[in-house]
Amino acid sequence: MSAPATILPGATLGVLGGGQLGRMFVQSAQAMGYFTAVLDADPTSPAGLVSHHHIRTGYEDREGLEALRRLCAAVTTEFENVPAASLNQLAAHMPVSPAGSAVSIAQDRAAEKAHFVRCGVPCAPYAVIETEAQLAAVSPSLLPGILKTARMGYDGKGQVRVKDAAELATAWQQLGRVACVLEKMLPLAHECSVIVARGRDGSIVNLPVQRNLHRDGILAVTEVYEGNLPAAQVEQALAAAKSVADGLDYVGVLCVEFFVLQDGMLVVNEIAPRPHNSGHYSQNACDVSQFELQVRCMTGLPLTQPRQHSPSIMLNLLGDLWFARDGKESDQPVAPAWDQVLALPGCHLHLYGKRDAKRGRKMGHLNVTGATVEQVRATALRAAEILGIAAF
Ligand code: ATP
Ligand code: MG
Repeated sequence: MSAPATILPGATLGVLGGGQLGRMFVQSAQAMGYFTAVLDADPTSPAGLVSHHHIRTGYEDREGLEALRRLCAAVTTEFENVPAASLNQLAAHMPVSPAGSAVSIAQDRAAEKAHFVRCGVPCAPYAVIETEAQLAAVSPSLLPGILKTARMGYDGKGQVRVKDAAELATAWQQLGRVACVLEKMLPLAHECSVIVARGRDGSIVNLPVQRNLHRDGILAVTEVYEGNLPAAQVEQALAAAKSVADGLDYVGVLCVEFFVLQDGMLVVNEIAPRPHNSGHYSQNACDVSQFELQVRCMTGLPLTQPRQHSPSIMLNLLGDLWFARDGKESDQPVAPAWDQVLALPGCHLHLYGKRDAKRGRKMGHLNVTGATVEQVRATALRAAEILGIAAF
């Protein structure tokens, strides 16, 4: 294919995957005057519900992919477990970003870690476990550790914490003896992440580095403002994210997640080849959101450096909140007191249109903005209290 022309508003943009990330992509693309098509088998998928076109097939369905090809001028993904082969197939006909080759690395923790090593970016000490012999050969220096399935993990699923060799053997059994990565358990001081967007011409822009709090392996709170992290960590994170993206010859939005160790050292955890939960604050706190960056990357529009115009804290709204109204546990889901939250200044509610609240399910997020960090923190803590989210 010759160098693709810039795809201007009026064209139709496609996304593989119909989750909340797809929904917010669709909303951004539509705001800019594009038509949208979502491929997702679920008739009630959050993105499918708001898209001009919704192709209700699996990611490998020939007719579904053909329909997407006919409709769209370019395609992106919102979900890293989309088969790379489907992306490659579409790429023969139109710009597809990120490329199947980059997505397939992000799909596999072993390949991902090998990529970090290639880029010279430090990650947690690890061993790949695919065979009984590799299990037996694990160095005791990696224990205690976390055994993670190499593929298909998210939100801490497919992970088992292990203290010794016996627990490791049991855990591998428990995970079905699939390919895994054992990571040494590191003493974390905190976690951070950065969103970069890389264009077809190799130009890169970034959102400010995010400080993240996870609870039970799921992102709970993201804080972004001047001074949220020491300047040296910010610089290191940006440099590492840039080399990871350059090394993949990446086109699109990429999130790089890091651990900050108690001694201040920064190590990369993993990458997501798409917008990320930790970048949601950009919708209300930055002049360009991560979803607009995704649109700009896939269409070949210019990337301008985003500017954060307000300090921000994002609270994730998990389904658990529906079962704990007013501090009381209930069996039946009850919607949280949105009216009380929205009475606070600078609260921006984003809900994903999911009908059933379930514990651990991401239902939405709340972006809090304000004039000062103190104001934003006070408002976010008050909102958390109303919603039943533990203070942070
Ligand atoms: P997500 O979908 O949210 O990115 P995931 O399932 O891919 O999650 P990881 O990012 O590997 O999982 O781990 C989830 C969380 O578990 C991390 O954010 C961190 O809090 C903790 N964790 C993971 N690996 C380690 C480690 N090696 N040492 C200490 N803590 C860890
Ligand atoms: Mg993670």
